[in-house]
Amino acid sequence: DLLVVGSANADLVIGVERRPAAGETVLGSDLAVHPGGKGANQAVAAARLGARTALLARVGDDAHGRLLLASQDAAGVDTDGVLVGGAPTGVALITVDPSGDNSIVVSPGANARLTPEDVRAAGDLISRSRVVSAQLEIPLETVTEVVRTLPAGTRFVLNPSPPAPLPAEVLAACDPLVLNEHEAAFILGDTPGDAPEDWSRALLRLGPRSVVITLGAQGALVAEGRTDTVVRVPSPRVDAVDTTGAGDAFTAALAWRLGLGDELPAAAAFAVRVGAVAVTRRGAQDSFPTAEEVGAP
Ligand code: ADP
Repeated sequence: DLLVVGSANADLVIGVERRPAAGETVLGSDLAVHPGGKGANQAVAAARLGARTALLARVGDDAHGRLLLASQDAAGVDTDGVLVGGAPTGVALITVDPSGDNSIVVSPGANARLTPEDVRAAGDLISRSRVVSAQLEIPLETVTEVVRTLPAGTRFVLNPSPPAPLPAEVLAACDPLVLNEHEAAFILGDTPGDAPEDWSRALLRLGPRSVVITLGAQGALVAEGRTDTVVRVPSPRVDAVDTTGAGDAFTAALAWRLGLGDELPAAAAFAVRVGAVAVTRRGAQDSFPTAEEVGAP
């Protein structure tokens, strides 16, 4: 079983001709409201692939929270661990201009109120999970508590997004740390040259048991400390129309396959196929494929 601990946001999207300057008002398109947030996205992506998935998250007692719960339920995610109340549901206010560039304001809302106590109260959920996956749109101290609560033998997958300095205790638990090049550059601070292979080795020296760097259309790179190996996993070639949620689809697929017992390179080889399908479709949660659509195994 897979447990995703993370954020749930309502994405409020308006198309604009141009973004307003300070003090100015512009008219935009009709409002579109989509369920999002990295935690909610990863849980839906995993469940759609067929994973038995639970979500530990917090939403507000409001319409956006109900929308998020409904989208999790529709995907088959176990939402018993979704806490309600304490603050409004997190939202992302997104304007999109004609060139496709986004301007985004995030109000973390209830996500910022998912606390270490909430994690301790979810001990049962954590102890019956084979793999626990987290991201950083919830407080870092909450992620740290997840690491402290993990039973021996439970695998921990962390996508450090948005990137933040990570305590050694969290890094040491990651198996793998899954990140894109931008996040890798942030965490390394000083990047050793241009080769992702070198980046992955430098990341391993920070303490995680393994590292997966996603490389967009080029797929991913897998580095394992225990075998001291670095391998490239190429992505299928596709016509990408919208990369929103690709990283979430990738991480969810990886976590699911690790839970089924795949070795890390094999799990990554499956995950790039899931990411490649997701970029051929618009949206985040709407773009996530079933295992059949990926042509599993
Ligand atoms: P993020 O979305 O977090 O920035 P990436 O852009 O690296 O992460 O994408 C994550 C995964 O999605 C990649 O490893 C790959 O499997 C898939 N992917 C992303 N962009 C493309 C693309 N243009 N063509 C094929 N696969 C892609």
